[in-house]
Amino acid sequence: MIPHLTQPQKIFIPPPILPGKIRVRIAPSPTGALHLGTARSALFNYLFAKKYQGVFILRIEDTDVERSDPKFEKDIVEGLQWLGLGWDEGVRIGGEYAPYRQSERIYIYTKYLDRLLKEEKAYWCFCTPNELAKERLKQKKAGLAIRYSRKCAVLSSAEIKKHRSEGKSSILRLRIPDKETTFYDLIRGPITFHTNLLGDIAIAKNISTPLYNFAAVIDDYEMAITHILRGEDHIANTPKQIAIAEALEIQSPQFGHFPLILGKDRTKLSKRHGAASVQDLRNLGYLPEAVINFLALLGWNPKDNREIFSLDELIEAFSLEGIQHGGAIWGQEKLDWFNTQFMRHSEKRWLNDRKSLPNELIEYMTSLVKKAVVKEDPTFIRKRCSDIVYLVLERLPLSNLEKDFMSEFGFFFGLPQIKSELLFWKNMNVADIRQALKDIFIILEKIPAEEWEIKIIRKMIFHHAEKTNDRGRILWPLRIALSGQQKSPGPHEIASILGKEETLTRIKKAITVLKENGKNEKPMR
Ligand code: GLU
Repeated sequence: MIPHLTQPQKIFIPPPILPGKIRVRIAPSPTGALHLGTARSALFNYLFAKKYQGVFILRIEDTDVERSDPKFEKDIVEGLQWLGLGWDEGVRIGGEYAPYRQSERIYIYTKYLDRLLKEEKAYWCFCTPNELAKERLKQKKAGLAIRYSRKCAVLSSAEIKKHRSEGKSSILRLRIPDKETTFYDLIRGPITFHTNLLGDIAIAKNISTPLYNFAAVIDDYEMAITHILRGEDHIANTPKQIAIAEALEIQSPQFGHFPLILGKDRTKLSKRHGAASVQDLRNLGYLPEAVINFLALLGWNPKDNREIFSLDELIEAFSLEGIQHGGAIWGQEKLDWFNTQFMRHSEKRWLNDRKSLPNELIEYMTSLVKKAVVKEDPTFIRKRCSDIVYLVLERLPLSNLEKDFMSEFGFFFGLPQIKSELLFWKNMNVADIRQALKDIFIILEKIPAEEWEIKIIRKMIFHHAEKTNDRGRILWPLRIALSGQQKSPGPHEIASILGKEETLTRIKKAITVLKENGKNEKPMR
């Protein structure tokens, strides 16, 4: 809790949420990559909007020219798109309240600043940074609240004219009347603050350069935003924004502040803790569905103990009452767990979606193979890594990659050593296995090379396997023939990646191994 914000005694009843009338926004400043905290705020706003048939807006707050960069806007846009959090209005797509980039809305802010000046609700302040620093120090020493002394609030129009004609640097401040105000935080309940702790806040550097709090209030009003749902790090801005809205005699939206995402050391999640941006996770190969599910449960609890949610299920289950009050701790292991769950259900992704290949992960896998396998051609290694990347993600927690990648996936980079005893399934004998491998060889050989793709391979293998009373009689020896391992992706998955020729070679090789060890009739399982 911010010290000057307190819980009031009076009972406040929040206004009802009106379906079809909700307008929420995410308003990132393009001063860095899309932070996971911002992504989570975007997700909660998105869920809130969709749940109540509302509108989700993306506004870019780039009034801080020095720190803003179009490359970060691109990162934000791409990150939200990758997560599947499409907006209904905003940058890149436009909408009724366009433009949605603050740097293109300056004329609007100027109009409001002009109005406040004319109404004498705002005034020019000529105090230098040095004077202000001294003033603050004095207040601090005297144990007083730090706020502007209002020295320039009493300047006459002649004095102002003189200072301005001398080119003295100035800013615009808002005259804030002393009073107590309460706002109803939709997550934390009613919060009261006294404006005398704010002082006359700065609202613009000049008539065409508004500061964040001012531009945000104008935009939220002009864009008819009904709810501002954002991270708790903005809670100290809320009293200022309410004061600005009151000066303009416009209605403030409702507010709600989410708890922060914290690292294990309980400080705000940052680069120091490892991955802190959506792009970091994307590069590491996490699936967007897993990131969404994980972010949703960071700070929000469904009423039951479900853990796996699709975006649609989240919309259905979401409510602001489910948002917790304390900070949410980031746990990479949990994200790994979600990722594995989603990988198991997203075969389509590694089949079709070559666009979303996690390139950094592929590079990393390539380097692990190169370290272990000297002979292979580097182009082949890289290509194969990109072919298997989603299989890897599905089966191996990323944190175990370095340790287990080669032992689990090394067979993709060279013929596996086949231990003949592994080929046995239940009570099958050598003749049965040889026959099973021969049969499947003939079936796969018939697939034309240009039709060698997973759907067809799977259909052929399973169609054949279903004819036996136990599919394992086909699938098991085939898996061992292709991978040499008891635990591996499905044989159709492996075959589709190995290609026709190599698949057939491996089956032939397994038959030979079996011949060499023909004496071994003992079933293993
Ligand atoms: N531009 C602010 C930020 O990036 C947005 C704050 C808000 O949602 O009002 O943190």
